[in-house]
Amino acid sequence: MSDKMEFRAEVHKMLDIVINSLYSEKQIFLRELISNASDACDKLKYMALTNQALMKGVGRLEIKIVPDAEKRTLKIEDNGIGMNRDDLIDHLGTIAKSGTADFVRNVKDNGSSMDLIGQFGVGFYSAFMVAEKVEILTRKAGEDKAWKWVSNGVDGFEISEAEKAGNGTEITLFLKEEEKQYTDTIYLRQIIRLYSDHISYPIIMNLGKNGEETVNTGSALWTRNKAEITTEQYKEFYHHVSKNFDEPWMTLHFKAEGNLEYTGLVFVPSTQPYDLFQPDRKNGLKLYVNRVFISDKVEELLPNYLRFVKGIIDSADLPLNISREMLQQNPLVAKIRNGTVSRILKELKKRAENYDDYMIFWNAFGTAFKEGIYEDFSNREEIASLSRFASTKGGDKLVSLDDYIGRMPAGQKAIYYITGDDVKVLENNPQLEAFKSKGLEVLLLVDPIDEFWTQVLTKYKDKEIKHISQADEDFVPDRKDAPKVKDEDLKKLTDRMAAVLNGDVAKVTVTEKLTTSPVSLTVENGQMSLHLERLMRNHQQQTAFASLKVLEVNPYHPLIIRLSELAAAEKDDVRVTEMTKILYDQALIAEGEAITNPSFFAEKLGEYMLKAL
Ligand code: ADP
Ligand code: MG
Repeated sequence: MSDKMEFRAEVHKMLDIVINSLYSEKQIFLRELISNASDACDKLKYMALTNQALMKGVGRLEIKIVPDAEKRTLKIEDNGIGMNRDDLIDHLGTIAKSGTADFVRNVKDNGSSMDLIGQFGVGFYSAFMVAEKVEILTRKAGEDKAWKWVSNGVDGFEISEAEKAGNGTEITLFLKEEEKQYTDTIYLRQIIRLYSDHISYPIIMNLGKNGEETVNTGSALWTRNKAEITTEQYKEFYHHVSKNFDEPWMTLHFKAEGNLEYTGLVFVPSTQPYDLFQPDRKNGLKLYVNRVFISDKVEELLPNYLRFVKGIIDSADLPLNISREMLQQNPLVAKIRNGTVSRILKELKKRAENYDDYMIFWNAFGTAFKEGIYEDFSNREEIASLSRFASTKGGDKLVSLDDYIGRMPAGQKAIYYITGDDVKVLENNPQLEAFKSKGLEVLLLVDPIDEFWTQVLTKYKDKEIKHISQADEDFVPDRKDAPKVKDEDLKKLTDRMAAVLNGDVAKVTVTEKLTTSPVSLTVENGQMSLHLERLMRNHQQQTAFASLKVLEVNPYHPLIIRLSELAAAEKDDVRVTEMTKILYDQALIAEGEAITNPSFFAEKLGEYMLKAL
């Protein structure tokens, strides 16, 4: 008796993408199936740690490749964990990984992220690129029943009970007419060596009457001598362990010796995954104990800000029976993490010497990496030194804190920054005018995380890091003989403005810091910046504690001079009121804030423009 079932909707989409638009190199299907077979062997080995009976009669874990030119079939067999009926339905009838499902939905809905596809593993379904029918015969380790799963990749699949001698999985591909080259052993040997040499289980190819041959090296890649591993092999291993398909930007293979011994083989991708900032993303490294796979995505092995790092850690010093739960408390795991982080940071430091190369990393991961300044207390300064920022003196390039310090004029005590949504808008912020006129550099920080790390890293190499609104008053432009409003007139104007803007701003003050702008918005000392407030508002966070805004006026600006005269003479009340509102709107716009009454602003501006013509 067999059950006919439909694929879930995402699977249809996935198949559609895979078959019609995905790979020009169809041969990668073999890499995917071998990779699954290897994962299945890893899982059985792991389960057997606590249930030795599972390995009874299994013998050596291995992967077999059986081509049959006459029948035009290719079989991939493993004696790993196998699947029961539920596994088959859950893993091969739906897309089990929620991330994958999201991705597929995204690609189909927007069509636009097709460029992402190339770096994306499609796994099992890639079999349908070359097969018109796929048949799976499988028995789960420790269970009696075996199952057969059949599908043509279009109409869903059928499952029925079957007979199978041992545990594990046999996947038979009934090759399409035009894909019969996948029964050619010379060709198969070539692609297995190319993509799957790093697999730690023997991959044995059946050569018909010529017997069998082990095609791969068969030892875990990380246990091999660095000098004997090619870039290609590292790259294929990266593809296998990360399920990413871009080039690794960094490959770091190391051995820690001493009290605690472990080997690491970790990679930094060259492109940002689409879900880097999604909270449900699964991160971490694969953990092996003495080459036995223990767990996927062990978050304890990496701090969150390095969540884009992929790879494995293998240590003989951890107990083999370590449970996934125990990983959290294990002090050795924490030591391995710290050691691995140090090595990654050290390597980043080397790579940072080449600006263009480093920017590949920075553009993809900088925003996540900077979280480390906030999160990782012990490496804070180092992470800051590896971070790059836009700056008023950087031109098109991003600068480091050391670049900044290196060109600080004598007498400048602090590193200054301003925060906002956009570099271009920030560059024109009126608050920068005094700094520009003095030739002082200001960092232009535009990522939300910048609001947070600047709260905790208040010093770097003895230099204070300060928001420009906290800068000392001695940063005032030189203007000895410039005309200026009389103090008592100015007082009348600021009182008038405060009355007009009552409720919008906490107060109106006079500043020496502006040159070309008549007014500017800032916040009272110690209040959260306007940018942070905006971020919180965008995330529906409280606005009950909105910062107290301060409108600063420039006493040298002709507009302010003229308005003061009007205010002092208590003349033209309507115009003073209207212009105050317009100036306030201008200050909001310069800050990147929305104005509350755009039609008033547009109408009045038009009126005054007409008068000037
Ligand atoms: P992934 O390997 O990324 O999980 P795949 O599409 O390659 O995605 O495989 C889907 C799932 O099917 C696997 O996670 C696994 O649970 C199951 N699977 C595939 N091949 C095998 C196999 N040879 N043995 C056991 N389970 C398998
Ligand atoms: Mg897979």
